[in-house]
Amino acid sequence: MSDYYRETLHEDYGQFFSVDKMLYEVRTEHQHLVIFENTRMGRVMALDGAIQTTEADEFFYHEMLTHVPILAHGAARKVLIIGGGDGAMLREVCRHSNVEHVTMVEIDQAVVDMCKKYLPRHSDGAYEDPRVRLVIDNGMSFVANCTEHFDVIISDCPDPTGPAEVLFSEDFYQACYRCLTDRGVFVAQNGTPFLQLEEVKTTASRIKDLFADWHFYHAAVPTYIGGSMTFVWAAKQAQMRQVDLTTLRQRFAASGVRTRYYNPEIHCAAFALPQYVLEAVDKL
Ligand code: SAM
Repeated sequence: MSDYYRETLHEDYGQFFSVDKMLYEVRTEHQHLVIFENTRMGRVMALDGAIQTTEADEFFYHEMLTHVPILAHGAARKVLIIGGGDGAMLREVCRHSNVEHVTMVEIDQAVVDMCKKYLPRHSDGAYEDPRVRLVIDNGMSFVANCTEHFDVIISDCPDPTGPAEVLFSEDFYQACYRCLTDRGVFVAQNGTPFLQLEEVKTTASRIKDLFADWHFYHAAVPTYIGGSMTFVWAAKQAQMRQVDLTTLRQRFAASGVRTRYYNPEIHCAAFALPQYVLEAVDKL
């Protein structure tokens, strides 16, 4: 199977991609990084055997993790991205002209460099934006030592193994809470509940006593195996997520942001969760 890349995220179930061309493969200081080309999905980046992003469907994920918290907040000026080395989260945050500062904390310089080289449409020049500060550091150490406050924190991290495991810890959520402004919102990818329900349950148990307003929302991202993917939503202030559709439509129109997946209707609908997920997180 040398012309195929097989994802090894789950031992007993998986997906594979034909590799038209292997563009880059290296064991970085932190993880095994692969970038290859596939006819259907375009360029694909994987870390430690798990697909992280593809050119074809990255917009589902990046738009939902960016525009949902920023538009629900309504006046976000300072945004922090943890992880995000492919640059697409930065690109989406920078589309908001009201955002004045974006800090991105990525552990692996090699991911940033190689994604700039092989996936340039992901960042689309965002690193050159004067509002952007790139920090190469472990996201956990950064938030633990941070004295700044952010309106929105986005954790764009891989699954909770290897260097990313710490980004799902109680210490990390507590540190993020401390780094948020009073109306601040934290969001993070949280796996596909059909295959990773324990991950969703664990996160819920770690945030429920910390944040006044917590929930999950979801979107089906084609290359994240297992159906719909959950994103955790956690805000310091109660009812932050309950922004009505008319307000969201006004904010979205005023932002001038052009999207391919996100719209205010999807934003509202994404918070409606299936019964088995509600039950797992004790929200029935
Ligand atoms: N969307 C992807 C997914 O869920 O499959 C994740 C995107 S990928 C850009 C995640 C990034 O997080 C990688 O570049 C990785 O190097 C970075 N990362 C992993 N652990 C980290 C940590 N502790 N601190 C900061 N960045 C980290």
